[in-house]
Amino acid sequence: MSVVEKTETEAGRDFIRDIVAGDLAAGRHKSVVTRFPPEPNGYLHIGHAKSICLNFGIAQEFGGRCNLRFDDTNPTKEEQEYIDAIQADVRWLGFDWGNGLYYASDYFERLYGWAQDLIRASSAYVDDQSQDEMRAARGTLTEPGKNSPFRDRSIEENLDLFGRMRAGEFPNGARVLRAKIDMASGNINLRDPVLYRILHASHPRTGTQWTIYPSYDFAHGQSDAIEGVTHSICTLEFEDHRPLYDWFIESLSVPSRPHQYEFARLNLTYTVLSKRALNGLVRGGHVSGWDDPRMPTLAGLRRRGVPPEALRDFIKRIGVAKANSLVDLGVLEFSIREHLNKTAQRRMAVLRPLKVVIENYPEGKSEELEAVNHPDDASAGTRPVRFAREIFIERDDFMETPVKKFFRLSPGTEVRLRYAFFITCREVVKNAAGEVTELRCTYDPATRGGNAPDGRKVKATIHWVSAADSVPAEVRLYNPLFSKPEPDVANFATELNPKSLEVLADARLEPVLAGGNSPEPVQFERQGYFARDPDSKPGRLVFNRTVGLRDTWAKVSASG
Ligand code: ATP
Ligand code: MG
Repeated sequence: MSVVEKTETEAGRDFIRDIVAGDLAAGRHKSVVTRFPPEPNGYLHIGHAKSICLNFGIAQEFGGRCNLRFDDTNPTKEEQEYIDAIQADVRWLGFDWGNGLYYASDYFERLYGWAQDLIRASSAYVDDQSQDEMRAARGTLTEPGKNSPFRDRSIEENLDLFGRMRAGEFPNGARVLRAKIDMASGNINLRDPVLYRILHASHPRTGTQWTIYPSYDFAHGQSDAIEGVTHSICTLEFEDHRPLYDWFIESLSVPSRPHQYEFARLNLTYTVLSKRALNGLVRGGHVSGWDDPRMPTLAGLRRRGVPPEALRDFIKRIGVAKANSLVDLGVLEFSIREHLNKTAQRRMAVLRPLKVVIENYPEGKSEELEAVNHPDDASAGTRPVRFAREIFIERDDFMETPVKKFFRLSPGTEVRLRYAFFITCREVVKNAAGEVTELRCTYDPATRGGNAPDGRKVKATIHWVSAADSVPAEVRLYNPLFSKPEPDVANFATELNPKSLEVLADARLEPVLAGGNSPEPVQFERQGYFARDPDSKPGRLVFNRTVGLRDTWAKVSASG
């Protein structure tokens, strides 16, 4: 049912998998059914990836199934664009719901009928109090709530009013349907929770058919029961809702008896994982869109070049627990780097070019040298790279007055050009402002391929591209979107990292990178992993840095 490789499905055990295994072994269920229940009010983020891997992963490992169910009960925030994006993202992550695509809105009629059943059982009533009055009467953690003056309406009156709510007779907010449970309950969720509210809003799927919409609590468990979900897995903030979840399942004649289990949500340093906040970043123009490569959305991570395998590896690595915790962003980067180190082909790219003229290399001449595509995988083969009299090297690879331990190019020193020759710097050319604009070097033709026949050594190997053959590119370097390890979600806009995007407009790449339009990330040797951005146009490539080569991160966060 999924494209995930076998090795990855043999994930470690966790308390939820233990529960599922126990239920199957004891015969409490013949097979396991889970669901991933996004609300289509935004794009999926890496926190959702944890829930997806858990729900779909369990179905896979135990031979069951996992539904994709849209929890579309709040039409004011939900859009078809999000429904489409969520499906694309789940598929991209490597999972398949088969025939199990559902919408809570498919169940609106049945939910309505169940609400009527509760009224008939004197377990629900229409409340005319205003929102403020209801809030004031709800009580606190230490004080009980107060019964609504409308709590003891007759069944007939409730049925009539509820029907008229449905018929669209009343304005938004005029009335709600509430369960009649216990206003003195220690669990505030049981203090007569709202089942239906009036909302004159068009729904992406049901249009204007409904003017009342069920609450999350009233829709969720019953949707699980309709679909035969056995294990309804959600995040810890729903733990206090479980008694209510069970109350509905026990009070209604639902077709099956699902159980809710809670696990700790993913929190990541320097990252905000809340669709509301992410939506704010998009609407506020702080990022270019939901798929901005700085966003923790699956669309953003994909555009940045993060492979789905790396995300699945990350999720497996962090495990599933019952206590909330904060995962270091470095763990995610580690998984990405691990995967790309194995899979990404190597290329040469000069991000901040400095021109080098090889004075003793004949003008008009050029030659092909052979470069290795992957140092640990001979089957990846080699490619030709063209060498000529004028090349670019990285500005950082030259120092006119080298500091201690700087072994790369400086006046009079010899270095190796990767896959090419030894060169020695003879002269530094500067502009009127005193900036270095060009280096004049000589090369040793006997060192072709990168080794000297006389056995002499150099202390550094640097990368390069030919000036004439290389292609211009814009390279986008990304840093975390937030400057604090634990950004304040409420004030996210003030905690943005002003240096989250650095654009290098004059990079030069090996010409092979201009061919095709593969989104496969590559390693720019000595720089990191990069993926072509869809902003690329013919003659104007754009590359995103997926991740650097080393964990520079530990250093940054220690000093920050
Ligand atoms: P957000 O707060 O980002 O809007 P949400 O919980 O409202 O998230 P839903 O669309 O309701 O978003 O989430 C779908 C499923 O994903 C739920 O079961 C939810 O528990 C789970 N989920 C959401 N965020 C995380 C997270 N950070 N870690 C793990 N699971 C998550
Ligand atoms: Mg939610």
